[in-house]
This record gives sequence, C-alpha cells and structure tokens, in this order.
Amino acid sequence: MSSKHYFIYTFGCAMNEYDTERIAASLEARGYIPSDTVDDSDFIVLNTCSVREKPQAKILSYLGQIKLLKEKRPDMIVGVSGCVAQQEGDKFLKNNKVVNFVMGTDAVSHIDDIIDRALNGERFADTEVDSSSFSISSFNRKDKIAANVTIMKGCNNFCSYCIVPYVRGREVSRTPEEIINEVKSLVSKGVKEVCLLGQNVNSYGRNLSKKIDFPDLLSLVNKVEGLERIRFVTSHPKDFSDKMIYAMAENDKVCRYLHLPLQSGSNQILKAMNRRYTYEEYKEKILKAREVMPDIEFSSDFIVGFPNETDEDFNATLNAVKEIGYDRIFAFNYSKRPGTKAFDMEDNVPAKVKSERLNSLFELQDSLYDKKLPSLTGIKTEVLITDINEDKEFPYYGLNMYNRKVAFSSDKSLNYGDTVNVLIQNARRNCLYGIEV
Ligand code: SF4
Repeated sequence: MSSKHYFIYTFGCAMNEYDTERIAASLEARGYIPSDTVDDSDFIVLNTCSVREKPQAKILSYLGQIKLLKEKRPDMIVGVSGCVAQQEGDKFLKNNKVVNFVMGTDAVSHIDDIIDRALNGERFADTEVDSSSFSISSFNRKDKIAANVTIMKGCNNFCSYCIVPYVRGREVSRTPEEIINEVKSLVSKGVKEVCLLGQNVNSYGRNLSKKIDFPDLLSLVNKVEGLERIRFVTSHPKDFSDKMIYAMAENDKVCRYLHLPLQSGSNQILKAMNRRYTYEEYKEKILKAREVMPDIEFSSDFIVGFPNETDEDFNATLNAVKEIGYDRIFAFNYSKRPGTKAFDMEDNVPAKVKSERLNSLFELQDSLYDKKLPSLTGIKTEVLITDINEDKEFPYYGLNMYNRKVAFSSDKSLNYGDTVNVLIQNARRNCLYGIEV
C-alpha cells in the first residue's frame, strides 16, 4: 500500500506556525508523510490568517486549485484552520463544498479528535473558544535546534484595525509549570533556542491565580539547563515595563533584540488605532532599554495609509524611523478588515498614495541600514548553527544574538546546534557573511 501524504499551508504569524507543527505531528503519528504540494496530498490543511487582505484572497485561490484535484480524487480530505476558520465557522463550510472540516483556533488543542472525525467522513465546523484556561499537551517536534513555545493565547487590546481579539478571544496564559516542562522536554531532544509566543507577551500571567508576570517567566526559562537562547514575540509597547528591560539585561540567555511594534509615528493615528501610547512614551522606553543594554537592536511593524493619515502623519512615521534607528522594519498598506472597529472608518487614503508611502518608508529604512552595514564588518559575533548546506560557498547558517542572519565558512566540520564565533567580513542587507574563528 502506498503511503499517504499531507500538505499544510501556513499563512500569517508564528502562532499559526506553532499550530501547524501540532497538526503535522498528529498526522505523522498516523503515518502520513509531508509533501510540499497539494497535488499528491491526501490530507490538506490551510492554516489561515485574517489579519490582512492578501492571505485571505490566497486561501480562495488555493481552494480553487484543490477543487479541481478533488474532482479526480474525491477521498482527499481538506481542512481549514486558523483565524479565518474561527471567524467564518459554519458559513465557510457551507460556502466551500470542497472543505471537509473547519477548525477554529482552539480546536488545535484536540487535534487528534478533529482528524479522527474527518477521517471517519464527518463534515463539520468546530469553532468553540475556551477562555477559562489554556493548556497544550506535549507533541512530537521535528528535529530542531530552535523551537517556538506558545505561552498564551488571545488579546485584550482591541487595536482598532485588528481582528485578533475577536477571533482568538481574551488573553489566557499557560501555567509556568507547563511552559517550563515543555522547554525542558525540547532541550532534552536537542533544542538550544526557544521563542516564547503570544499576541502580547508582556501581559503574560494576568489571568493566572499564581502571581507571575512575563519578566518572572523569562527568569524561570533562563534557568533551564542546556538551553542557550531565548527570544519572544510580540511585545505591546504600552505593557513594556522597566522590569522587562532589566529582565532582558539580567538573564544572559535572552537575545539582545526586541520587536516593539510602533505602527505609526503620529499620535493622532496611534489614538485612532487605539494603541494607547504616544510616540514620546514609546521613544522613552526605547531610550531606557538602550541605556541598560547599549547593544540592543530593535525592529517594528508599521501600517501605512490608515484612515485619515495625512502627509504630516506619515512624515511623523518617517521621523520615528530616523530617530529610533531600527535594525529591521515590517510594513504594510492598511486594508479594511471586516469585524474590526476601523472597518466603519472611511478607507480614504488612495491606494496609489499608500503604495508611494510604503515605498518611501522602505527606501528610508534601507538607506539608514546601508549606512549601518560597514559598522557590522570586522566584528565577532556568536552564531547558533541551524542550517548546513555543504554545496554553498558559506555552508553554515544561523542567527546571532541580535536576530541577524549569518552565513559563514569554517575549516572545521561543524554540526547543527553548535554555537561558534564568526568574524563578519561582508555585511549585506539581508545577511552577514564571515568565517568561523
Ligand atoms: S495587541 Fe493589537 S495588534 Fe496585537 S493582537 Fe492585540 S489587538 Fe491585534
């Protein structure tokens, strides 16, 4: 009997990537083999994201492709998970005959049951949300050096452009015991680096009976023997405290890199976005973090062309990018998302203006980063090897403590998971190149 294959397409954020790993582990435990195409797959899951418009359009295009395949292979099972699944539920099932099951964001916690039901021929939508507790049973991970660990789900912030609080529900944290056990178990299987995940990690612990916050959790994870590095996403600026800055500085495994999404440099736009901080407050936190950790690097997300964004507002964003000096930025044109507060606002910045603004934001960031690049050559940096390709000029690849990609060569034969010093000889925008020393 030939083996069965599965294919999972993951849209969106690291939380979705984590859920994909859990779905994959459950399918592999049943003997399914991963495939990188829908064409030869027997079990397909589209793990969706509704934060932006483009991924949602891509889901429909995927379903069109799958529909043609399913006409020839009616036994093929097709599931839809993630935020779109949570949001649309039954409606998605009714409107898309090709889909066998729709599983919401909480259904991943009983994925074995979901897969059983689908394999037994049931057509269903499971979008129940449990806002009382959050627990994840352990699951097999692929051989990994770096792994994601979800520490909480949901969000209480209701930024006006964002659908997450409506689809993922209120913030609920996993217990520290469960998180530490998962980290220890990962380390025992060879993991050297963990990335702690949550929509807003800085409000970790608020629903737990035990008094604990995110800086406390960082200190606990830092004590796990054999673990070398800790990263985390995402931090909401309003909850990023001095305690958090000192926890980053004092726990030696925590990477010197902070993703702190500003979204806009204009206070008027920040208010309309319901971000609940001003640019001045944000900047103060950046300066404080730099005072305590002079070598820390920052990245940020930006939304360009939010309703009523004027040239002046956008210039404030450009000014913020200049003043802060980010290592990296992620920026997108605003698009209206049904179900959000901003949906009722007139999307009144023309598409052409949005695109021009987005381009000038990236151009500014590139020109600032290009000026910084020479300062990155000639320095030694510690790299954790997560990829090896002997056929390449620089066979070894990994990230350094500042979340920068580094590709390098060595006279020695190195292994996955080795942490080595690399002398940077050539710094490019997307990668640093060097030699192991
Ligand atoms: S903090 Fe704001 S942008 Fe982030 S998930 Fe919550 S509501 Fe969305």
